[in-house]
Amino acid sequence: MKATPRLSPLAVAALATAGTLTLTVDAAAPAQAATCNGYVGLTFDDGPSSSTPALLNALTQNGLRATMFNQGQYAAAYPARVKAQVDAGMWVGNHSYTHPHLTQQSQATIDSEISRTQQAVAAAGGGTPKLFRPPYGETNSTVKAVEAKYGLTEILWNVDSQDWNGASTDAIVAAAGRLTSGQVILMHDWSANSLAAIPRIAQGLAARGLCAGMISPQTGRAVAPTAAVPTGAAR
Ligand SMILES: [Zn+2]
Repeated sequence: MKATPRLSPLAVAALATAGTLTLTVDAAAPAQAATCNGYVGLTFDDGPSSSTPALLNALTQNGLRATMFNQGQYAAAYPARVKAQVDAGMWVGNHSYTHPHLTQQSQATIDSEISRTQQAVAAAGGGTPKLFRPPYGETNSTVKAVEAKYGLTEILWNVDSQDWNGASTDAIVAAAGRLTSGQVILMHDWSANSLAAIPRIAQGLAARGLCAGMISPQTGRAVAPTAAVPTGAAR
């Protein structure tokens, strides 16, 4: 819309009531919009799982959005959990189908791992992923060629929370505290310590004027979200 006319609050209310104006009600948005001096990318790998609902609840309760790098086998097994990720305002990426060491696989196997995951996520309502995180962060020219075939941007991380390696909640909070604008942190869907860290991660980011953003497929860096949380998202 160009040259948007200024509307009084009453007019906005009237239009909204009439159904001619769709407002995204997001209680966390105004406060965040005033204090976002930069964006960081929170990422959670290996879902969706039975841990996903609690993770989504913690993220939304704390006004955070994240990128979920799902395994295709779990997206296929638990499609409703993929849909729940999207409905909670998360972004969904591809983390291979069965989590192999891709650099030890044939190009045909890499292609299958990536393409089946694209299909499983899309079939679950997660959209067609634009971001790919190779398992273990292991990549090579063959992996990159297959990523390119599917229009995927490879996303590793700037900060490793070490949640996969037994890091304490304190250590995970401290890792998030090292993020600078544009950077991405590695965490996992299944980590109870990362789940427990979420409120303090949110507080730490807010204290530094940082907000949780999306990862740009163009640059691979965290940027402002281009779309609001879907209305009706569980909170
Ligand atoms: Zn993984």
